[in-house]
Amino acid sequence: MSDPGNQPEDVPTQGHREGGCQCGKVRYRVGSKPLAVAVCHCGECQRQSGSAFAMSMIVPDDSFELLSGDLKSFSRSPKTGITVDCHFCPDCGSRIYHLISSMPGTVSIKPGTLDDTSWLNPNFHVWTQNKQSWVSIPEGPRSFETQPE
Ligand SMILES: [Zn+2]
Ligand SMILES: [Zn+2]
Repeated sequence: MSDPGNQPEDVPTQGHREGGCQCGKVRYRVGSKPLAVAVCHCGECQRQSGSAFAMSMIVPDDSFELLSGDLKSFSRSPKTGITVDCHFCPDCGSRIYHLISSMPGTVSIKPGTLDDTSWLNPNFHVWTQNKQSWVSIPEGPRSFETQPE
């Protein structure tokens, strides 16, 4: 999974990255480049974020390290049959990452929880058929009306 050949061209290279929840009890570190950074416009992600879309940064699971705090989780099973285990800070409710059954060996981090989000540059937009009407999809990233195959 750490083969740099898997790295999409338009996602920058980086080393260790740290992040945490809103109350500060949960802290984590990521030790590898993302395999992908995606923006999802589906209804579940709008509800989860309380906003227009959610972002996901996919990394190999062995590169994710919890530094402090404990996470709670719940599972949801969207209609697609994929199970998503959603991990969050029990004190402040910040969503930290998802484990997605269709992507074994990876962690889908919520990259808005990173201390430095300046380098994020999504290379996928998914479920654009559900996007809020005011959202424009930029030129460049690949976009999919639903879930990419
Ligand atoms: Zn917290
Ligand atoms: Zn979604």
